[in-house]
Amino acid sequence: MPRPIEAWIHPAALAHNLARARAAAPDARVMAVVKANAYGHGIERVYPGLRGADGFALLDLAEAQRVRDLGWRGPILLLEGAFEPRDLELCSRLGLWHAVHCSEQIDWLAAHKTQQPHRVFLKMNSGMNRLGFRPEVFRSAWARLDALTQVDEISLMTHFSDADGPRGVAHQIAAFEAATQDLPGERSLSNSAALLRHGIQNDWVRAGIAAYGSAPDFPEHDIQHWQLQPTMTLRARLIAVQQLQAGDTVGYGSGYGADAPQRVGIVACGYADGYPRSCPTGTPVLVDGVRTTTVGRVSMDMLVVDLTPVPQAAMGSEVTLWGRGPHGARLPIDEVAQAAGTVGYELMCALAPRVPVHSDDPA
Ligand SMILES: *Cc1c(COP(=O)(O)O)cnc(C)c1O
Repeated sequence: MPRPIEAWIHPAALAHNLARARAAAPDARVMAVVKANAYGHGIERVYPGLRGADGFALLDLAEAQRVRDLGWRGPILLLEGAFEPRDLELCSRLGLWHAVHCSEQIDWLAAHKTQQPHRVFLKMNSGMNRLGFRPEVFRSAWARLDALTQVDEISLMTHFSDADGPRGVAHQIAAFEAATQDLPGERSLSNSAALLRHGIQNDWVRAGIAAYGSAPDFPEHDIQHWQLQPTMTLRARLIAVQQLQAGDTVGYGSGYGADAPQRVGIVACGYADGYPRSCPTGTPVLVDGVRTTTVGRVSMDMLVVDLTPVPQAAMGSEVTLWGRGPHGARLPIDEVAQAAGTVGYELMCALAPRVPVHSDDPA
């Protein structure tokens, strides 16, 4: 028998979440962001659930090729554009749209030989200070692109640093609008948080985390608030049960001590599966669909859970680390991420290759 741990991807939940993004952006088209192998879900596995999107956004050229190999003929946007001049050949060949965020990328385009003019997304650095042209040089970058025969349509994009937090998006929108007001072209500004929290739509929204059933602004809002559904379940089984006596400790570093008799279960899941080692005692987990918590340190292949609320649990009992549990129980990935001091994004992306992944049938 294989080690009892597996992940499940839920295409119907992906489709549901995409529909939520659409409902929040009735005036825009929705690009499903599938970078990082679809936030750890697997591009091929999310495709049945997300193929209703108006486009896909990602940054790795090999991933763009995989989306085309699935038969997708619609828009694919490279969010970081070309990394070297020859990437533009693949853009021509696969008909990829690509971001242009620096003057070197314009130089490469100017030297690129193609019959197929490209659609580009000129990126403004409106305050995030990662990629893009600052507002004061944006217009001259636009004019350079506009003069190139290699360029067909120029769209305008920027990215928000604080769409999920108290600073918000107004200062970046003001910078963007001031520098672009009389420029033609479609606009793309929003990630999930800007869409859900601030209702920023424009022509193309770039929905990532919301599609994957994680709240972009947890814990201020949870997925129930945004009516999103978990799209990834990580589950394992109990491979042993221990009866602790008062004074006994659990795991490496004696990270937990029982002050009274207590049953604990040993779960076939550890940090080598992608479950964060930083999850402390008290991290939520479901056993047979009943909510309980971890105790002690997470080790490479195992972690330990309190069985006090689940007296019927025994070797073989199902443990839900995040996602969908039995009997309709749910454990949002955001709660586990918060316990680990991180975000749902990181947990999804960190699912380890040794975990077998399956998909439900698409709806
Ligand atoms: C990852 C990314 C997104 C999607 O962000 P979410 O918070 O996952 O919705 C949108 N735009 C850009 C440029 C990105 O890199």
